[in-house]
Amino acid sequence: MSTAVPDRAESPATVVDALIIGAGFSGMYQLHCLRDRLGMSARVLEQGDGVGGTWYWNRYPGARCDSESHSYCLTFDKDLYESWEWSERYPEQPEILRYMNHVADRFDLRRDIRFGTRVTAARWDARADRWTVETADAEGGAGERFAATWLITAVGCLSSANVPKLPGLESFAGDWYHTGQWPHDGVDFSGKRVGQIGTGSTGIQAVPVIAETAGHLTVFQRTANYSIPARNAPLTPEFKRYIRENRPAIRELMQSTPNGHAFAIADRSAHDMTPDEREAVYAAAWEKGGLQFRATFRDLLVDKAANDTAADFLKRKIRETVKDPETARLLSDIDHPFATKRPPIDSHYFEAFNRPNVSLVDVRSDPIERITPTGLTLRSGAEHALDVIVFATGFDAMTGPLLNIGITGRDGLTLKEAWREGPKTYLGLGVAGFPNLFTVTGPGSPSVLCNMPVAIEQHVEWITDCIAAMREKGVSRIEPAAEAAEGWVAHVNAAADATLLPMAGHSWYLGANIPGKPRVFMPYAGGMAHYRRICDDVAAKGYEGFVKSA
Ligand code: NAP
Repeated sequence: MSTAVPDRAESPATVVDALIIGAGFSGMYQLHCLRDRLGMSARVLEQGDGVGGTWYWNRYPGARCDSESHSYCLTFDKDLYESWEWSERYPEQPEILRYMNHVADRFDLRRDIRFGTRVTAARWDARADRWTVETADAEGGAGERFAATWLITAVGCLSSANVPKLPGLESFAGDWYHTGQWPHDGVDFSGKRVGQIGTGSTGIQAVPVIAETAGHLTVFQRTANYSIPARNAPLTPEFKRYIRENRPAIRELMQSTPNGHAFAIADRSAHDMTPDEREAVYAAAWEKGGLQFRATFRDLLVDKAANDTAADFLKRKIRETVKDPETARLLSDIDHPFATKRPPIDSHYFEAFNRPNVSLVDVRSDPIERITPTGLTLRSGAEHALDVIVFATGFDAMTGPLLNIGITGRDGLTLKEAWREGPKTYLGLGVAGFPNLFTVTGPGSPSVLCNMPVAIEQHVEWITDCIAAMREKGVSRIEPAAEAAEGWVAHVNAAADATLLPMAGHSWYLGANIPGKPRVFMPYAGGMAHYRRICDDVAAKGYEGFVKSA
């Protein structure tokens, strides 16, 4: 039960035990845990008009998951886990959104979710030992005010769209869209001159689909990217039966692998084989498709010479696929080791460049200078006439969604100030100076290096157990000790430095895609299974590294 009580400010605040920001996988499961397991009053505040998080916003052409469907789901509830049947190997956005709505219905979550509600500020009130939270409604006007003992951010890692600040955008006479804020009723590209900026996971999914209807599609590429065929297809009756008969084992496997996927990383070095044997392994993985390619050898992400063998194979495949030699050269001129940026998987991306209505423009050597009323101009003066611009330009990842909230902790410390030199968390779950705040998939957690639902279930369950333990012990405030957070940041850096991941110097993992953002490797690269053990150990030791007060 929530109550409306007069607060220190003019309007009364709705008081609940816990506030959760965001209604994606994290927010929905967190609500279920706190409300239905612990019996707490809780609200989810969600900017969109529906549940789904990433899958609510990312409706761009070709949007689909790159975790295999049987592993891209919540597994905590036996009936939920066993009752949903996916149609394809890699489900499309509408199917995933249907699944998210199914979760909301099944656990009757909507009654405690405030849709169309954007959090504009969250402040720790030390006198009352609780958070006060302000919101804006869908029209941007002042919304409902809330107060809660616990504040849990479930805002996702990739939800703050990055539209590059190109001069002249406001003068563009055509339409432009960011893939992460796609119109719900779609975009008609028929016969239009479309320019797409960006060739990350999103851009690589969008190109072949936009090309099907566009008059002409010009792809502006700054950094060439590896991509592995998804080999997406409807699930066969045999595979569906395999899933039905092996769910507990599949779940166990997902929870024991470093990346949360339902496949193990082969325990062999790329150096253990002759070139011909290795070629056969890569060829088989290429034919099978998907992220398993990365799991062919255990040393691809830690040994540059091993990585080169995979990189050479993949670059060769691009040159074999793309017919125009100059386009093939540009697409395969990749400047970072394989999988040091998130490796995309695709459905006929490189093949799309063989179509007469698709062309590639290299904006590394000749960057976009400005947007004009009729298209865009490059530094060389070359002009491209466009009717539509698609920004597949990514996100202010991991920290962006949290810093946008306007969080102020103890003694007036803002999160922006606390993270001026880069994010500092303990376990990716809490921040020193911010009592009773938990950050699901926060910076310093495995999150984006893991199959997300697996990471999310672990975080939400750990947070739930922690809150239950604090309530039982009568602890009213808990926050990470500053030294514990410093130690965790050092551990996150060491884990990244033990891999080749930092070699992709311009990746969003490092914050390098956003001008002025501190360059800090944000996700935890030590592996999900190892991370789980660390978190369990912290809990078993009475939440070691946290400061608690009654
Ligand atoms: P991204 O990986 O950050 O890619 C953004 C692209 O835009 C890059 O090619 C980047 O070039 C380019 N770009 C940015 N600013 C530019 C500018 N001013 N001029 C020219 N090019 C510019 O973003 P994303 O593709 O949206 O993917 C983000 C993450 O979302 C992925 O890594 C993945 O984790 C997730 N995702 C997952 C799926 C899935 O599960 N299927 C699908 C899509 C996305 P540079 O590389 O040179 O910066």
